[in-house]
Amino acid sequence: MEIKAIRGFNDILPDEVGKWQFVEEVAREVFEGFGFSEIRIPILERTELFSRGIGEATDIVEKEMYTFTDKSGNSLTLRPEATASMARAYLEHQIYSFDPVAKLYCIGPMFRYERPQKGRYRQFYQIDAEVFGVGNPMVDAEVILMLIHFLKRVGLEKLELQINSLGCRDCRPLYRGELKKFLTEKSFQLCEDCQRRLHTNPLRIFDCKVETCKEAIADAPQVINFICNECQGHFNQVKGYLEAAGLGYVLNPRMVRGLDYYTRTAFEVVSYQLGSQNAVTGGGRYDNLFQEIGGLDIPGIGFAIGMERLVSLLPKDKAFVRYPHLFIAAMGEETIKEAYRIINQLHLQGIRVELDYEGKSLKSQMRRADKLKAQYVLILGREELKRGKAILRNMESKLQEEIPISDILNVVREKVKGVEQGNRDC
Ligand code: AMP
Repeated sequence: MEIKAIRGFNDILPDEVGKWQFVEEVAREVFEGFGFSEIRIPILERTELFSRGIGEATDIVEKEMYTFTDKSGNSLTLRPEATASMARAYLEHQIYSFDPVAKLYCIGPMFRYERPQKGRYRQFYQIDAEVFGVGNPMVDAEVILMLIHFLKRVGLEKLELQINSLGCRDCRPLYRGELKKFLTEKSFQLCEDCQRRLHTNPLRIFDCKVETCKEAIADAPQVINFICNECQGHFNQVKGYLEAAGLGYVLNPRMVRGLDYYTRTAFEVVSYQLGSQNAVTGGGRYDNLFQEIGGLDIPGIGFAIGMERLVSLLPKDKAFVRYPHLFIAAMGEETIKEAYRIINQLHLQGIRVELDYEGKSLKSQMRRADKLKAQYVLILGREELKRGKAILRNMESKLQEEIPISDILNVVREKVKGVEQGNRDC
């Protein structure tokens, strides 16, 4: 029987991968421009990191983690998100001793045992950016600004920035109590999961998709009306900085985010092109996370962008695939050898070159060049070779010119530069 991939685990095929590379390149460029450095963290961590960091009573920890016991009896988990691991690395390697402020980003796969559907997978990729060590609201605005800047550079439109404040350790329990009181009276309307959430983590009920739960929570008290003066002051400053940067936002008092560690600023960027899974990215401040995993009082803020959802929003007409710059059509043993010599020189110059491996006719080599979408074809025939010449054909305009073999490197380099420049400009 043919072996297939596991449900919810996707292959990203070569004709798709150009988009992924493009997104990753833009992320690296934009984030590094804002002073962020890449960090690479393991895919597997001790289960405790997530149960303590994300919170026992979250959907992720309760039912979505890929957890198993290894041969030494340790409980390990495939990372469901990157923030807790990045925070662990910051503590473990005492990155704070060099500079308490660390701006880090990470790109890679995450794993959650969710019910697969369009836009929701069991292995999915995230781009994460985090700032550790600063509680100043200016950083909240800066992180949001960087995110929007990145999304615009990638080419996304029809985006909406939604923000909320979730309060802190001091004021959130008050809100939690009020919410619980309100929902207890409506508990008969709640689904089985939410009946349980009512006692463990009532804020999660905002995320429930069951119709009766949505109705029950529609008029619930809102966290923003319960936050303390410090949190209100922080939120006002975040809004002030966003306005100073000219960034539009929408207040969404119902946004509570799925993870327990968020405090104060929470934000999401939603797209109206995606149907029900419309959150491209979300993030927020988490000033308690470090205490949960390492006992230190270090503030943090960051976001995670879902790559699959982002890639699905990219403009369809943009060419992300890197086609060959040049196809060399050569016939006969002698010319093929000459072609091979030229190809090696071109490769060293970073020019993408293809050729035929099967000694086919010129006609079928031209067909292959067309199929591969090569921009130019260099035709090397026995006759031309004798005269030290080759024919260069522009596959788009169909114009041909004869060029000396000794000039190939220069001519092709110049033409390719022109094409690359054109691609960047469009
Ligand atoms: P979260 O870590 O839950 O805050 O999610 C951050 C972003 O990751 C979301 O806005 C989604 O774009 C993406 N994401 C989360 N879960 C999944 C999933 N199961 N499949 C695909 N993308 C996801």
